[in-house]
Amino acid sequence: MAELDCIFCKIGGGEIPSERVFDDGVAFAIRDIAPKAPVHLLVIPFAHVEALESTTDGGQLASAHCLEVAPGIATSAGLESYRLVVNQGADAGQEVSHFHLHILGGRRLGAMG
Ligand code: AMP
Repeated sequence: MAELDCIFCKIGGGEIPSERVFDDGVAFAIRDIAPKAPVHLLVIPFAHVEALESTTDGGQLASAHCLEVAPGIATSAGLESYRLVVNQGADAGQEVSHFHLHILGGRRLGAMG
């Protein structure tokens, strides 16, 4: 179910235009608008999954699906090495309350801090 004020629901629904690099009907991937690496993609379920610890089966399946498709998306983007990141909660830097997986790569990534 889409949330009215959710930017990723709006992007998924086409209300906000984006260049999709992947779409399999369950999840889609776009380039991050403020990239932190030469390749910075976001893998986002169409369903509004609020958080990683979503209590609904559908929410857990949707977030697991993002992890499943991420390696193929990274390979298609030309990445051999990459980092997958989920920011969960404000202290971790989460800005958008709709589950998403960051794919970062294209340069030597420093140690995680
Ligand atoms: P997070 O901090 O984990 O919630 O990540 C949210 C990410 O969404 C940030 O890296 C933003 O740069 C990115 N973002 C926000 N709005 C857009 C947009 N319209 N298109 C692409 N990426 C976006």
